[in-house]
Amino acid sequence: MSGSFLVDSHAHIQGEEFSDDIDGVIQRAKQAGVEKIVVVGGAGDLASNQRAVALARSHDGLFATVGMHPHDAKAVSEEELAQLRELAKDSKVVAIGETGLDFYYNHSPREIQMKIFRRFIGMARATELPLIVHDRDAHREIAELLLAEGERKLRGVIHCFTGDYQAAKAFLDLGFYISFSGIVTFKNAAPLREVAQKLPLDRIFVETDSPYLAPVPHRGKRNEPAFVRLVAETIASVREMPLEDLIHATSQNAHALFGI
Ligand SMILES: [Zn+2]
Ligand SMILES: [Zn+2]
Repeated sequence: MSGSFLVDSHAHIQGEEFSDDIDGVIQRAKQAGVEKIVVVGGAGDLASNQRAVALARSHDGLFATVGMHPHDAKAVSEEELAQLRELAKDSKVVAIGETGLDFYYNHSPREIQMKIFRRFIGMARATELPLIVHDRDAHREIAELLLAEGERKLRGVIHCFTGDYQAAKAFLDLGFYISFSGIVTFKNAAPLREVAQKLPLDRIFVETDSPYLAPVPHRGKRNEPAFVRLVAETIASVREMPLEDLIHATSQNAHALFGI
């Protein structure tokens, strides 16, 4: 591997989709050159966050984050926010998230999504941890909230980015990184590949968002961290650069943000 390894910067492998074969999943990731995996909390409830931290604690190369997905914002209590903040003190926790806004599905009312997002921005500032942001059809509102609440002291990443270059540029200007998932490999994603081609190399992340969004040729099946290599291959190819260099750069970026 000539010293370069991949980082899957966003995977929900603490869920029941992986409970039968988690060791195999981690093993296959290692075989694919994925040495580090960020296990992202926020897929549902407090228990999923606790499982993310427990999984990270029991494996070298695994790290955790704590948060609540915007889909679930309406169900988040003050008590849970307090417990998440406690959980964030664990030495294996490297970020707050995922959090953000999803104005496509609107599973929680928009005002409540914004209220909870503000709380997590506050938690990121209080803990001095970076933020992992979910953005679906809410680029402008997210950029405004990051600016208003973050006062340019926030660091973080917009995960599973699906916006255009202009939206990406607004987040770069706020000091954020942009993370690409398996969507960048999809046949109809030419505009997104163009964004991946144009962004500065020192601001790009790769992720799987497992178990969702498996890249081609696994589209529609369960995703797993080993497949982050396919995301990296696609971006290296559109940038017409050696895969090794893309892998090296994205791992450096993850190191710079998460300290991993
Ligand atoms: Zn997300
Ligand atoms: Zn996610």
